[in-house]
Amino acid sequence: MADNSNSPHVLIIGAGLAGLALAQSLRARNYTFQVFDRDVSEDNRSQGWCITLHGDLLDSFARYFPSDMPDLNMVDHLYGTGIETSSAVYHASRNLLKELVRFGTKLGNRQIRANRGKLRSWLMSNISVQWDKQFVRYEEDASGVTAYFQDGSQFRGDIIVGADGIHSGVRAQLVPEIQPGFLPMGVICGELEAPKEQYERWMQLGTSWVSAFSADLRVTYLVSSITEDGKKAKLYWLFGWQDEDALKEEFWTTKASREEMHQFVLSQLPKLHPQIAEPFEATPVEGMVLPPLRLCDMLPAVLPAGRVSLIGDAAHSMTPFRGQGGNVAMADGMSLARLLNEKGANQSLSDVLRLYEEEMRPQAMAAVLESRGGAYEANAQTTTTKAS
Ligand SMILES: Cc1cc2nc3c(=O)[nH]c(=O)nc-3n(C[C@H](O)[C@H](O)[C@H](O)COP(=O)(O)OP(=O)(O)OC[C@H]3O[C@@H](n4cnc5c(N)ncnc54)[C@H](O)[C@@H]3O)c2cc1C
Repeated sequence: MADNSNSPHVLIIGAGLAGLALAQSLRARNYTFQVFDRDVSEDNRSQGWCITLHGDLLDSFARYFPSDMPDLNMVDHLYGTGIETSSAVYHASRNLLKELVRFGTKLGNRQIRANRGKLRSWLMSNISVQWDKQFVRYEEDASGVTAYFQDGSQFRGDIIVGADGIHSGVRAQLVPEIQPGFLPMGVICGELEAPKEQYERWMQLGTSWVSAFSADLRVTYLVSSITEDGKKAKLYWLFGWQDEDALKEEFWTTKASREEMHQFVLSQLPKLHPQIAEPFEATPVEGMVLPPLRLCDMLPAVLPAGRVSLIGDAAHSMTPFRGQGGNVAMADGMSLARLLNEKGANQSLSDVLRLYEEEMRPQAMAAVLESRGGAYEANAQTTTTKAS
């Protein structure tokens, strides 16, 4: 391992996918860093959904992460079940169920469909996160930067990286004018546990995730885990509908009760093919996820020069419909660590951060725009294998 004892000390705000990918890549290069998160512990928040880790990201993990990482296959949402991952997009109006595209390892796509909670735990391997540390502000001067936290503590570093998600406090101080914008689509999320005879029927359409378009609806359900004895599966879903009112700050879901959300979803199900509608119909009122997800996105901005930068959703955010947000977030973390390592000896920290941002911006911009399109178009998917 390289001796990077004179390397910059990196303060990472946020132990999500981006922050932890950065931390692992720094650990691999023997850099010193600290990771802070406002959560009180690793599992105090549901990480309900799954994300698809695409082939190029898997290559980057192999290249940039330390060699002592545990087996990544264990994060697969179907690990140990012997079921191969397959996902599909359908046109699913009341009387028509037509497969449009299909993906999955069964079709030769190199990917892992990761249970998000397990992925986060994997990314935390051999990293000690400082929990219950809510970032409040930073102060930057010629020799370094200090991060201040809600509990009164403060930490000094050479750079601060805001990996604190879509509502980033680091971004709010760095570029207060940059904020995510709402998109004209309402979304309600739900979770349920289903017995074998139900989940097996639903998985006939796709073992990992099933997405469907019908009239103004765009719905997705996914299997996030199956119990070891196979008797039950946990599912997560997103129920989306086109709605100009969703552009408003005070869209009705913002203050809706679980009962109101449940009623709304049930009232829309007749627009869907009954086979697709089943998991939504089977979800009890308590399964409605709060706080409600608001569909929004944000293009990456040019950041002021200095000792502070952003990665992941803090820098750019996108709709979940192309399955790219988490992949891009982790790629950001790895790029930043790579550039610190490659350029840090000869260039100022501010220059290295600028190089990272110049590399990140065009890639993130393309992903944000593609993901926006993916909310409304069935075929707007990357790495697809067309169904015959
Ligand atoms: C329903 C859904 C499905 C998705 N599906 C996919 C998919 O299939 N594929 C994909 O690639 N992406 C997917 N995404 C997107 C993906 O989850 C995000 O892009 C990804 O989580 C971003 O990672 P991040 O580390 O930037 O932010 P986050 O994961 O949000 O992590 C931010 C961290 O910062 C912490 N934090 C926040 N504020 C503070 C503070 N003030 N002080 C300290 N800590 C703080 C938070 O506690 C959190 O741990 C999906 C998203 C949703 C909502």
